[in-house]
Amino acid sequence: MNESLQRVVVLGGGSAGWLVAGLLAAEHPALHITLIESDEVPVIGVGEGTWPSMRDTLRRIGVSETEFIRRCHVSFKQGSRFDGWQRGASGASGDRYYHPFMLPVGYGDAQLVAAWCGTPGERAFADLVSPSVQVCEAGLAPKQVQTPEFGAVANYAYHFDAGLFGQLLREHATSRLGVQHVVDHVEAVMPQENGDIAALRTRNRGEMAADLFIDCSGLSARLIHGHYGVPLRSEREVLFNDAAMPVQVPYDRVDAPVASCTVATAWAKGWIWDIGLPTRRGVGCVFSRAHASEDEARAALQAYLQATGAPPDTPTPRVIRYDPGYRKQFWVRNCVAIGLSSGFIEPLEASALALVELSAQRLCMDLPMARASMDAVARRFNEDFSYRWARVIDFLKLHYLLSARDDSEYWRAHRDPFSWPERLRELIPIWRLRPPARHDFGRIDEVFPDASYQYVLYGMGFRPELSPLSEVQWRTAQACFDEAARQARRLLAGLPGHRSLLVHLQHAAA
Ligand SMILES: Cc1cc2nc3c(=O)[nH]c(=O)nc-3n(C[C@H](O)[C@H](O)[C@H](O)COP(=O)(O)OP(=O)(O)OC[C@H]3O[C@@H](n4cnc5c(N)ncnc54)[C@H](O)[C@@H]3O)c2cc1C
Repeated sequence: MNESLQRVVVLGGGSAGWLVAGLLAAEHPALHITLIESDEVPVIGVGEGTWPSMRDTLRRIGVSETEFIRRCHVSFKQGSRFDGWQRGASGASGDRYYHPFMLPVGYGDAQLVAAWCGTPGERAFADLVSPSVQVCEAGLAPKQVQTPEFGAVANYAYHFDAGLFGQLLREHATSRLGVQHVVDHVEAVMPQENGDIAALRTRNRGEMAADLFIDCSGLSARLIHGHYGVPLRSEREVLFNDAAMPVQVPYDRVDAPVASCTVATAWAKGWIWDIGLPTRRGVGCVFSRAHASEDEARAALQAYLQATGAPPDTPTPRVIRYDPGYRKQFWVRNCVAIGLSSGFIEPLEASALALVELSAQRLCMDLPMARASMDAVARRFNEDFSYRWARVIDFLKLHYLLSARDDSEYWRAHRDPFSWPERLRELIPIWRLRPPARHDFGRIDEVFPDASYQYVLYGMGFRPELSPLSEVQWRTAQACFDEAARQARRLLAGLPGHRSLLVHLQHAAA
């Protein structure tokens, strides 16, 4: 490597590669960035649900939100809805809860959980503290026609077509940010004497040298695993899912409502995601091969498609198999792995792209401008992202371990404390006595903050044993519930329908 960092090679042209290349180029315009992707190795082509951080990421890369919406078949995502996770009961009544992106009204200022526990009736926690649930149920958009780009009335992320997203980022990064795009297959890694990577040898263009290599080569992990041999830390004993069957489903009519949240429906041996885009739905069955055969998963998916009005000629889904886990190290010498090469657990809660964004941001912030500082930056990066992956795993496991479902060994095994991460084994008894709080987590920028834990815990029917509130505490919390209800009424009256806003933005931009 040169004394100072000048050249970066990004290996991989999936969502991770283009997000990293775009952010690096936007924030470090003096760098010479080349992205190499193979025309023999297709991108994974799934990954359509995001986290609200994507708004900031796109803004920083310089992508216009309107253009993004117009070109990538975008819909707005205001959170996730979980059907059938608690008891396995389907239908709108009972076994359904939301994890909205909006913080509870009065969060941190009022004893909302204790007041909710003391409130008569069966009102869901999320519904009592946040207007988002009613906005989603009513099929409304999270913003108005006149709300500025990236601005929100109700917090939101996106759903999009992953293939179109990659194309837009590629065009933007190459035409506006100066990223060089090379379509070629990397056949070998050329090491330096000190163990750094000197260059990647491509089939047609020869050697591509750089000072820093970003491995965004997907599940093949060509550099971090293929060259450096860094193994995965398996999470199979905690989160059993290791396969998915995605399928694209047309709407039965052009004006069908577009869901403004990801719908995750549990089945006996996994769960099914349902993401509404303006043009189609993206649906997929996630399952554990140790508990379900591919035929069983296919049958569960077919039953779901039939029950949700998909046409009978929906194409046969492909099967994606993976090892749930993450790398023991993400950054080795002058190579850092981001995206699927760094690990993958499962699509629940769209944490994968959120981790890509966080990794890319961290890289931009701490970019070691000289080789001498790279090892220290790498050590800190590894420490930080090991922490983040572990917290993602805690949060995902939380969705399963409180389930009362007894229709298969899959759910019983999830309930078994031997399959729980140690931290959850410690925190769950604590959370019986008080709600999850900020100090339970180590970072101010946690991927999933304590409010998210509250939404899932109480959505899954967890009832803490809290001390009774004083009169003042009770009144303060009730005022917050009233405010959430007032906000809900205001939003229901003022927000446009989700599809109608998407249609408007489509035409306004064309
Ligand atoms: C079933 C499923 C559902 C998912 N759903 C979500 C979701 O809802 N939300 C979310 O945030 N994430 C989701 N993810 C994860 C998400 O899809 C990925 O994080 C995201 O697409 C990034 O993938 P990637 O760019 O790392 O890899 P890929 O898209 O696989 O790209 C790999 C790239 O590397 C290139 N490459 C590989 N080898 C070579 C070589 N030798 N030479 C040159 N180029 C090479 C390929 O050509 C390709 O361009 C999901 C994943 C799966 C499996």
